[in-house]
Amino acid sequence: PDSDILNYNVDAMIDGDRDHLWHHIKPHRCFQAQEQMIIVKGQGLTVTDIRGREYLDATSGGVWCVNVGYGRESIANAVAAQMKQMAYYAGSVGTIPSIKLSGKLLELLPGMGKVYYSNSGSEANEKSYKIIRQATTIDPQRKGKYKILYRDRDYHGTTIAVLASSGQAERKKDFGPFPEGFVQVPHCLCYRCPFAKTYPGCDIQCARAIENIILEQGPDTVGGLILEPITAGGGIIVPVDEYFPVVQDICRKYGVFLVIDEVVAGFGRTGAFFGHQHFDVAPDMITLAKGMASAYEPISATVVKQPIYDLFLNDPADPESRMHFFRDISTYGGCAGAMAASLENIRIIEEENLTENSRVMGGYLLDRMRELLDHPKVGDVRGKGLFLGVELVADKTSKAPAGEVQVGAVVDAIKAEGVLVGRTNSSLPGLNTTLYYAPALVINKEEADRMVDATRKGIEAAFG
Ligand code: PMP
Repeated sequence: PDSDILNYNVDAMIDGDRDHLWHHIKPHRCFQAQEQMIIVKGQGLTVTDIRGREYLDATSGGVWCVNVGYGRESIANAVAAQMKQMAYYAGSVGTIPSIKLSGKLLELLPGMGKVYYSNSGSEANEKSYKIIRQATTIDPQRKGKYKILYRDRDYHGTTIAVLASSGQAERKKDFGPFPEGFVQVPHCLCYRCPFAKTYPGCDIQCARAIENIILEQGPDTVGGLILEPITAGGGIIVPVDEYFPVVQDICRKYGVFLVIDEVVAGFGRTGAFFGHQHFDVAPDMITLAKGMASAYEPISATVVKQPIYDLFLNDPADPESRMHFFRDISTYGGCAGAMAASLENIRIIEEENLTENSRVMGGYLLDRMRELLDHPKVGDVRGKGLFLGVELVADKTSKAPAGEVQVGAVVDAIKAEGVLVGRTNSSLPGLNTTLYYAPALVINKEEADRMVDATRKGIEAAFG
């Protein structure tokens, strides 16, 4: 055996989990109250906990990232082979996997020109902000255009600058003050239209409002707009077809870089290879993470159009210097094993037609989930591809949100049926009331049926 890393003692792990590990985004009190689930194994869509219980994971690892499913030996082999050959060199130098992966990504993203690596979704987005900000010093036409617009309900990451651009108020409430220059625009969730309109016939006011905000702020001050193509944590929001063309026209009119955050929606999740490819839009920058290596390794990227890269060839602020470059670095943006994982992950998605399976099985799952609309507490069922939300309400007519405790009880009851689902955050305080489904793209009909059946039972158990 190469290593004893896979060996463990059950009791020691349970004690260690309670005593040593600081879990992400979980109330501290629950550790004293009850033993927490510890995952020890994964295969396909199924994970096994330390007590030997098996669950069908509808969340691809909790946060929608294990797109190709668990147990992919070929990814492990690709990573091992690359690590043995050459584990790491800084991103200031090319390596075989970084060159191959960039070529592959640009093939998948026609119209884009260069790929810049880092290692989390937060960083990939932060790089796009740094590009927007540095562009104000190197392009005289962009002087002063430092503000970045973000959308209510969208989420772009956890570090302070990207958190400043979070449309989920409860995520940022404890962490101010934030850097200045981030401005919120309305969301586009029709079920809870911010303008109380009904589509069609609304003139896509949510998109047109962005122009008014740019005018209020001063077009000379606004440099970028970041959007999720299909919003994840804010409630699984699919814009109507007319949305993106309107947004893009506004961005072009005012010289605002359009950044599309594909961190969740990318790599087949929504039934297209990238989420924005459902719509008529050509972004200036695209950020990638999560499904990029199906979280077998951490890796992310900021992909830009060639003219944005070319801006950095000239630095009028520093004409005598040879230092013309994007002044940024990321140590682990050079991890060759992570790039090998990404290349093999993309090969699997293509060879197994997983984007098509996401489209077809996603359509099936959405149709079946819509059967739940007959329940008085199911307000809305929405999604695209294998990316679905089931919004729970206290009352269908008023759309008053379901109680948080009850939604927690639904999630627990679905788990008791052997299925792991998640619940979203949103910008309205206390509204964590949309169940989400983002299973691995290899899902079959029987697994989809189990998710629907478990959800119905869970809702009935919690609400009666
Ligand atoms: N963008 C979106 C749309 C996300 O959902 C997330 C994380 N859930 C991020 C960015 C941040 O990614 P990370 O956690 O890898 O920093």
